[in-house]
Amino acid sequence: MAAMMQPQIILLKEGTDTSQGKAQLVSNINACTAVADVVRSTLGPRGMDKLIHDDKGTVTISNDGATIMKLLDIVHPAAKILVDIAKSQDSEVGDGTTTVVLLAAEFLREAKPFIEDGVHPQNLIRSFRNASYKAIQKIKELAKSIEGQSLEEKKRLLSKCAATTLSSKLIGGEKEFFASMVVDAVGAIGDGDRLNMIGIKKVPGGTMRDSFLVNGVAFKKTFSYAGFEQQPKKFLNPKILLLNIELELKSEKENAEIRLSDPSQYQSIVDAEWNIIYEKLDKCVQSGAKVVLSRLAIGDLATQYFADRDIFCAGRVAEEDLLRVAAATGGTVQTSVNNVVDEVLGTCEHFEERQVGNERFNIFSGCPSGRTATIVLRGGADQFIEEAERSLHDAIMIVRRATKNSTVVAGGGAIDMEISKYLRQESRAIAGKSQFFINSYAKALEVIPRQLCDNAGFDATDVLNKLRQKHALPTGEGAPYGVDINTGGIADSFANFVWEPAVVKINAINAATEAACLILSVDETVKNPKSESAQGEAAASAMGGRGRGRGRGMRRR
Ligand code: ADP
Ligand code: MG
Repeated sequence: MAAMMQPQIILLKEGTDTSQGKAQLVSNINACTAVADVVRSTLGPRGMDKLIHDDKGTVTISNDGATIMKLLDIVHPAAKILVDIAKSQDSEVGDGTTTVVLLAAEFLREAKPFIEDGVHPQNLIRSFRNASYKAIQKIKELAKSIEGQSLEEKKRLLSKCAATTLSSKLIGGEKEFFASMVVDAVGAIGDGDRLNMIGIKKVPGGTMRDSFLVNGVAFKKTFSYAGFEQQPKKFLNPKILLLNIELELKSEKENAEIRLSDPSQYQSIVDAEWNIIYEKLDKCVQSGAKVVLSRLAIGDLATQYFADRDIFCAGRVAEEDLLRVAAATGGTVQTSVNNVVDEVLGTCEHFEERQVGNERFNIFSGCPSGRTATIVLRGGADQFIEEAERSLHDAIMIVRRATKNSTVVAGGGAIDMEISKYLRQESRAIAGKSQFFINSYAKALEVIPRQLCDNAGFDATDVLNKLRQKHALPTGEGAPYGVDINTGGIADSFANFVWEPAVVKINAINAATEAACLILSVDETVKNPKSESAQGEAAASAMGGRGRGRGRGMRRR
């Protein structure tokens, strides 16, 4: 009886699986190391690509850390955090996604022996945070500004940054060609966060070198009706009318019901319909526009009507393309053809419909408002062009970053070695266990040059020894030395123009430290029995619930 009066306290449902303590931490660390091992070999100019195919048969070939991580469909709750930081790095700076994953995993690997020896994770976390703070200060100190140069000079420097990003990609062979294209494209859109103003169009066939940049807008010819062939395909300084209405006979939207008493009245109804469309078309022509684009369909009647009056038209233009035409030509999209005044018409120096590979393209170049550019990518296989697009995206992001906060650091592992050396020096002045922790943080940073060597088939130990010696020079002249990817020795990365925007490194170190600390702070995982079927998700949300509060520092967007 007494036992019944005191009910048992049941906290979690029956079947709930919890694991906790040191063992849990170590297992989380192991999972993260396993994830990093997947992307490890993609780092750097000699990195390998991954081919990923899913059950739907989609094949992706990529070298981009974020893309690979996204496609991997990782279910381990702790390892998912690495996927998140790769994504956040991708959206924050656009490059350095492999770097951030490798760093986070390496921090954890260095922490593992301490955890196994019974060090409290919070001690490690504090030291790691401290070290990352110092590292970032140092990067800011070492970063060189490219501000204050002439425009030409600046362009040249920016294309070096773009080339460094591209050198690790499939299109690395043509990096100069694409780097200057990217710099021109970014230059065209000016400042402002309007990345969608750079369009990338993919046309299979031809070679990479056939890719070209349009200083304006280009899009694939839309579906068109008979009569289209008779329209002129080339204009100089045409007026451009942008519409968001249908120009088709059948589609008067108001489905009115009309009752007829006399069959002869029927003809008048049909006539009325024709009149409405002719009136609309007439107004388009009267506006003086030579090119008429619409987001909705332009039917055969309209096509023929325009053809007879030497006007070019295209219906069903994709919304983003139409908006880009509007931005570039200075026109405004109209929802009615009544009162089309001159101000809403756009213009450009040159309009042309041109054959590109197997496709026909409508190309608007020499646009007055500028501020938009289109890269038309050519290449053999679909997967190849897809990867090329992702690579260009990285390069575009990098050039934009570098234009905005124009400071760069030496790449090829040089900055990592220098920070590593600096932290080791600093740690000597710290008493107690923290010294060891900061030391191992410093050691973890060496993973970047080591991996660059490994991936290129160099003797990493040998190269790293040379680098350590160079960076230890008291005069500081060795600071820009990094891995020389061509000879397998070491070289002045700065002099060789292997540059990276400082933000890439700062963000990578920040995010990697934050993720490592987050994983170190978890000592228990609880799996809810109800969602056994959706295992991965349940486990992830159990984890996410705990992590979210701290995760904010990771700047997810
Ligand atoms: P991430 O996804 O992290 O950007 P990448 O595969 O693009 O990974 O590799 C970037 C690394 O490669 C950087 O550390 C960069 O400094 C290095 N790197 C790029 N080009 C060169 C080069 N020509 N020589 C040496 N290192 C290079
Ligand atoms: Mg890169």
